[in-house]
Amino acid sequence: METKIWLSSPHMSGNELQYVNEAFATNWIAPLGPNVNAFEKSIEHYLGESSHVAAVSSGTAAIHLALILLGVTNNDEVICQSKTFSASANPIMYLGAKPIFIDSEKDTWNLCPILLEEAIIDRIAKGKKPKAIIAVHLYGMPYKVTEIHEISKRYNIPVIEDSAEALGSTYNTIKCGTFGDFAILSFNGNKIITTSGGGALITKNETLKDKAVFLATQARDKAVEYLHSHVGYNYRMSNVLAGIGRGQMEVIDQRVNQRRKNFEFYKTELQHIEGITFTGEPEGNFSNRWLSTILTESSKMRDDLHKTFEKQHIETRPLWKPMHQQPVFADYPKYVNGVSDDLFNRGLCLPSGSNLTEADLERILNCFKSYFAYA
Ligand SMILES: *Cc1c(COP(=O)(O)O)cnc(C)c1O
Repeated sequence: METKIWLSSPHMSGNELQYVNEAFATNWIAPLGPNVNAFEKSIEHYLGESSHVAAVSSGTAAIHLALILLGVTNNDEVICQSKTFSASANPIMYLGAKPIFIDSEKDTWNLCPILLEEAIIDRIAKGKKPKAIIAVHLYGMPYKVTEIHEISKRYNIPVIEDSAEALGSTYNTIKCGTFGDFAILSFNGNKIITTSGGGALITKNETLKDKAVFLATQARDKAVEYLHSHVGYNYRMSNVLAGIGRGQMEVIDQRVNQRRKNFEFYKTELQHIEGITFTGEPEGNFSNRWLSTILTESSKMRDDLHKTFEKQHIETRPLWKPMHQQPVFADYPKYVNGVSDDLFNRGLCLPSGSNLTEADLERILNCFKSYFAYA
């Protein structure tokens, strides 16, 4: 049996162990320590734009903290891009708030500015102004930053920029993860760099970073005894895992190049096939191409391709099922235009790891050749 080709698997640089060993040698085996501080600094340096970074246990935890710091509570409404991974929306539920789902536009597959504004006007007319907007750079493709943030300013509703899939992507040469009132990153095992599990909360305001760290470490007031005047969370990143992150940040630019090369390979080899299309980068957008995706001409073609790959031990996956179609979110308001449903029906994510070999790519290509019967 041939080895399995994964959608997106961890890719170590080799330097991670040195930092992990330092944690062991100094006995910093805790959710704080020198690796955590250095990992945060390396991300701040990489993102620029006066970013302050708090390393936490997951991207989901970072979104939860952002919502809390924006004052979201019970019965508030929070707007969320429908075409995303469920982790964008789940923290809204943790707070007893209500998600309002918004569909995508066709250029970037992200939050549609027209529907966003319609929804805001409608929610206000119905009596409640949304407390926050969660916008996502899905698959690494930047959302329409200028349009979305103009609307955010016009209605004075802050944006949580879900950059979990977009470390290394840029919009008008500015790094994704620096546009939102808060932004978040994920270092889960399948992301462009990983700490096995982890995330980061990003803000321009150092006081807000300190507040996030305070909440993420059980909200301990300054006192000799354990003193608490707020509900706290145990969300800080482990110093051992931050060591992995330090080694990973040293190769982030290589990882972006490798992922983009995968996309170029697929596009060059497959764009002549009738029935398959690729989505380009709109003016100003630079995608890390975290996942390479294709659109097929029908859901049958997509499903057949998926099965063809499965037989060859190659992992592919339909484009994410929109949140407004998920059983858990079925009862929440939605503003839809059919775009994300169509993408979900016809789209496929292809293996996209930065560690794919030429032999892997040939195996993947051969599946297309056998399915479409050409050589
Ligand atoms: C991975 C991901 C998250 C959550 O990150 P975790 O670190 O896995 O909690 C949030 N949003 C999107 C779009 C993601 O892909």
